[in-house]
Order: sequence, then C-alpha cells, then structure tokens
Amino acid sequence: MAYYQSRPVAGRHFLQIPGPSNVPDRVLRAIDNASMDHRSADFGKMGQEILTNLPQIFATSGPVVVFPASGTGAWEAALTNTLSPGDTVLMSRTGQFAVLWEDMSRRLGLNAIMLGTDWRHGADPQAIAAELEKDKAHKIKAVCVVHCETSTGCVSRVEEIRGVMNAARHPALLIVDAISSLAAMECRHDDWGIDVTISGSQKAMMLPPGLSFNAISEKALAASKTAKLPRSYFDWQSMLEFNRTGYFPYTPAIGLLYGLNEAIKMLLEEGLDNVLARHDRFGEACRRAAAVWGLENNCVDAREYSASVTTLRTPAGHSANNLRAVIAEKFNMSLGTGLGMITDKAFRIGHLGDLNDLTLVGTLGGVEMGMALAGVPHKPGGVQAALDFLAGNARAAA
Ligand code: PLP
Repeated sequence: MAYYQSRPVAGRHFLQIPGPSNVPDRVLRAIDNASMDHRSADFGKMGQEILTNLPQIFATSGPVVVFPASGTGAWEAALTNTLSPGDTVLMSRTGQFAVLWEDMSRRLGLNAIMLGTDWRHGADPQAIAAELEKDKAHKIKAVCVVHCETSTGCVSRVEEIRGVMNAARHPALLIVDAISSLAAMECRHDDWGIDVTISGSQKAMMLPPGLSFNAISEKALAASKTAKLPRSYFDWQSMLEFNRTGYFPYTPAIGLLYGLNEAIKMLLEEGLDNVLARHDRFGEACRRAAAVWGLENNCVDAREYSASVTTLRTPAGHSANNLRAVIAEKFNMSLGTGLGMITDKAFRIGHLGDLNDLTLVGTLGGVEMGMALAGVPHKPGGVQAALDFLAGNARAAA
C-alpha cells in the first residue's frame, strides 16, 4: 500500500491537483540513484549540463539559478537579491498566492502597493500603467506579477504589463512568478523583458517539490550588486560563482538534480512548443466539459484562461470540498481545494506536467461521476464534449 493511501486501492492514484503533479517514471528512475560526491568531476559535468539546458525552458540566454527550496524560497530570493529595505513594490492581489507573496514582501520590510482584483481576472495592465504614470519620482522599484494564479486559474498578461512599463518609461524591475506556468504556458524571459522569472520543480517541470528557480536578467543582476536586503543562503552572487563550473555553494539536492536533468531532457525531446500545445488542449477540453456540465469557470476573461489549472465554481449551496472528498473516496483522485475567498466554493483541476489526453479524460470522468454521487447539480455529457474535442484535435494533427 502506498504511503499516501489510507486503504488498499488498485491502480495509480490520480493526482490532479495543480502541483505537486505526477512525476513520470523516467524522472522517478533518475532520482532513484545513489548520491554522488558533489565536489567530483562527474557532478560538475551533470551540473553544467543542467545549468546549460535549463535556461531554454525559460526562453533566456542568461543564467538560471537553482535553490533547494519550494517556490516560496524562489520568491524570497528574487526580492532579497534585487531590493533594499523600505523599497516600494507594485503588486496585484490576483489570488491566494499573490496574497502570500505580498505578506512576504511586508515581512521583508518592503512597502507593497497592492492593486486589488476580484480573483476572477489576472493583473490589470491599465491599473499598473496608472500607478506607474503617477510615480514620477520612480519610487516603485519592482512590479511583481503572478503569471498563473494557481488559486483562481487566471493568467496575468505579462507581455502587456511589460508594454505598459515601457510606455511609461518606468525603470522598475519586472518580477514574475511563473511557478505554475513554466513549461505549461508561454513565458518568455528575454522576449518579454522579465527581470526575474521565478519557478519551482513540482508543477509542469514534473519533479517532486524541493527545487526552485530564478532566471535573472542583466538588469536584475546589476540591481543585486547594490540591493541591501539581507540574504545569505539565497545569495545569487555566490551561487553564480560556483555555478560557472557546474557546482553549488552548499550540498545540493543531488537526487532532485538527477531528476531535473531527466525532466529537462524529456521537455526538450517533446519540444517546448508541443509541450505548450498539449497543455493548451487540456485547458480547452476542461472548459468544454465544464460548459456542458453548467459549472462556472472562475476565470471570466477568455484571454486569461490557464492551460495548467482550471478553477470551477460549484453551484451556490453545494460544497466543493464535499465533492472533492467524495471523488477522493470513491475514485482515488485528488483535486485542488478552493483557496482563500473561494474556499469550499470552487475546486481546481490540475492539468499540468506529465499527463496525456487519456489522463485528462479519466480526470474529467472522475469529476462527472463525483458530481452525480455528491448531488452537485449538473448536466451530464461534459466528458463526451471533451472526448469530441480531443478526438477532433488528434484527427487534425494526423
Ligand atoms: N506561487 C504560485 C503561483 C504557486 O502556485 C505556489 C504553490 O502552489 C507558490 C507560489 C508557492 O510555492 P511553494 O508552495 O512551492 O512554496
């Protein structure tokens, strides 16, 4: 019996939360190797391979640093390496993760200006533009945006946000949380003028939790030379110095790095464009199913739909957590819980990382059966709509 199962159940658990996601067998096998000497020539070779290939996933020619931490550590690294105590940052409260990041910024002694949203949209580029226009003294040192708000299933239009920053000729850094968008949705560090792209291992990178990433622009690197927030473990400078030869300043998470090397290979073998198209298809199939069921998508702007997570609202008076519990009990599938202001009002279908059309169909089948068992009012036929869409898509690709 696997450790996460409270009772014997046949078949693999369906882990359809929006991260941690399913870890492919190839990655599991890579992790399942003896630790090596992290000062050996062999480790240096592996380190260099990883650090050379990883930037491709971020669409950057600059460095990407890897910290042994969850995504929260990468948030902290991005802020502490680029900012000084009392600096002003402009953030958008797009959902629960933006709220947590805001909280961190305050604890670090930053002054966060928060732009509110209704949690059904991404960050508003026009509201950001208005704040930047007002800021003639350039007090705002960074614009921080959560690209895919994993709690709401809404995507912020980062390229447009860069556009308004350029139009305002504002020198603030653009810091983007791509924790649940990297390798699922287009996120182009260089082309979009992002200064720090933050991500983590446990989402579309198909690894267990435990590694986090900062892709760093030249401007961000220059800012790190004068930034005064205290930092030690997360200091970019010492990390970059060691990384030059493929090593790390402290004992690296060797097992996870074996897995990261393999996951990067898998993504590059499939081709990043194909990976993104696959996620796009999953998002569309989910939305088609939801439309037939009559469940409301929490994201209300079609430009901001996520390809990695779909957040669906249950009809008023019907507990989303009860639905999740029924599905877990009867069909051995985990779905994401509603967070923050949509707790128990919504559930989240994770469709990121190592999955295919049939995984998604199984997931949607579990949701449709679960709704029938939990007495959530819906119109049957959502799974059929997804099947029709996926089959049509496969036919067109043939
Ligand atoms: N940002 C986003 C968008 C997330 O989805 C998450 C986690 O789900 C985090 C930040 C926090 O990352 P972690 O829980 O790995 O520390």
